[in-house]
Amino acid sequence: MTMYAKPIPKINEDSRPFWGGCKVHELRFQKCNQCGHVRWPPAIICPECHGKDTVWITAAGHGRVYTYVVYHIAYHPGFKGELPYVVAVVELHEGPRIFTNIIGCSTEEVYCDMAVEVVWDDVTTELTLPKFRPVK
Ligand SMILES: [Zn+2]
Repeated sequence: MTMYAKPIPKINEDSRPFWGGCKVHELRFQKCNQCGHVRWPPAIICPECHGKDTVWITAAGHGRVYTYVVYHIAYHPGFKGELPYVVAVVELHEGPRIFTNIIGCSTEEVYCDMAVEVVWDDVTTELTLPKFRPVK
């Protein structure tokens, strides 16, 4: 594995298909075959109807900034070189809300409800992170 100075996600059996999708630049989520709810984080049952019949779908990668914060202090040494940076919750068109970073613009340009699209950060040979940039 390539050296990477920041914390990395803990991948488990539930989330492995999501991270495997990221590796091939696909944003994958579980969709309930009983009620149609698209969920995040992955789980063995649907939080809406408790159904267990699930399929993995690939999201288009478009959404809006639901909320965000600008970090001016590095709480982990790996982030010192990136200050200031944006941590956001992006609501995808398919429904799930995921934590991510907004990149490709200044921190002052980010606002709630801003249209964004996924971009892929291949941080190691093993791990790719989904990040988002403004839709121009
Ligand atoms: Zn359901």
